Amino acid sequence: MKEWDYQTPYFVIEEEQLAADYAMLVQSLEESWGNYRIGYSFKTNSLPWLVTYLKEKGAAAEVVSDDEYALARYLGYSDAEIIYNGPVKEKASFEKVLLAGGIVNLDGRRELDWLEELCARFPDRTVGVGIRVNFDLEKACPGQTTMGEAGGRFGFSYENGSFARAVARVRQIPNARLAGLHLHSSSKTRSVEVFEAIARMACRLKEELDLTLSYVDLGGGYCGGLSGRPQYPDYFPAVSRILRREFQPEETALIVEPGISLLSKATTFVTGVTDVRDIGKERYVITDGSRFNIDPTMIKSSYLFHTVLHPDHPGQRRELEHQCISGFSCMEVDRMFSFRNGPELAEGDRIVYENVGGYTMSLNPLFIKYFPDVYIRRKGQLYQVRERWTPREYVANSLLFGQEKQTAAAVGKGSGDDEDHTDIKLRNPK
Ligand SMILES: *Cc1c(COP(=O)(O)O)cnc(C)c1O
Repeated sequence: MKEWDYQTPYFVIEEEQLAADYAMLVQSLEESWGNYRIGYSFKTNSLPWLVTYLKEKGAAAEVVSDDEYALARYLGYSDAEIIYNGPVKEKASFEKVLLAGGIVNLDGRRELDWLEELCARFPDRTVGVGIRVNFDLEKACPGQTTMGEAGGRFGFSYENGSFARAVARVRQIPNARLAGLHLHSSSKTRSVEVFEAIARMACRLKEELDLTLSYVDLGGGYCGGLSGRPQYPDYFPAVSRILRREFQPEETALIVEPGISLLSKATTFVTGVTDVRDIGKERYVITDGSRFNIDPTMIKSSYLFHTVLHPDHPGQRRELEHQCISGFSCMEVDRMFSFRNGPELAEGDRIVYENVGGYTMSLNPLFIKYFPDVYIRRKGQLYQVRERWTPREYVANSLLFGQEKQTAAAVGKGSGDDEDHTDIKLRNPK
């Protein structure tokens, strides 16, 4: 089948590009530090094909909720292959990952309570945990962090002393061990300096609190696949130079949690023009893709894209100064961009958005149209890895009028509660 025959809209992941980006990550970690672990950030894009592809490559699952934990287990990751982060962990899965030797980075006080309880229940086991550090990155890199001077809300604050208190509490538990630091921070710039500042913070904490660590977890937030921006081989040698002042690879592993940097370049979104109309002074090009598919948080002001004109379309296209490329939804804000000085678009043409792998496919509302098809391209050939959702998938966990039921299990049922994630049954209404 020719690509023109595929029904738009759909995402395509270039497998070769993905493999090349993963290999670049591995090689630069290998060369800079040697002792490392890669945890793929599920939230960035948890497409099942992608997640199982990266598992095959040896990545661990970096998850930030009980649902993501359950998904990782469902897709074949063992508890030991989980890196469990974030403030909304659930107790049962928290315990499972810790007891299996997976990585858990404590994010708040209740998790210290859970740790104490767990250690008391298993006095013969030694439990290693990490702690997420909240520190003033903005001070080290002015203007670069996402939250600016307001600061972030995750982890234990270094500046107000709660980090040191958390360390002291772990040290009071006879069979717990502070195994690592988690330093994920989000920045607007994704610059090398941000990661150098993170590495300096790790060194400072080790020295001030006399820590012996099995790992330093740098988190995610790298750039990748954009020309003129840093790539993996720019980050890790710089980080390594700083870390080596206090750490040795033989003793301390480097953990990274890439998301967007792994997927960006490999992924495109193909949309089709469904209609063209003039209203007032504006030429509207209506497409079957939406801003919700590629910019669900509505923050992008520009897109990387190219157009593919329909081969059968007759005649030379004149150039138009301005065309408003808009989405399928009925919301007026659903306009992608203003296409300047481009060929006049017509029904059947395609607009292909580039670098759209992160925070798209899984961060997508089920609004007006459901999740689109996803293909991978392998040796020039397209293979389908997700079929577009239909009403069947949409209603899968719903009951219809007349089918209501009272259930006792609705409250506080975490995925760790003896549910077997390798055998999740989907409920369908009769
Ligand atoms: C979001 C997140 C990541 C991945 O971030 P990217 O920007 O996609 O690289 C990694 N670790 C944690 C804890 C995160 O919250």
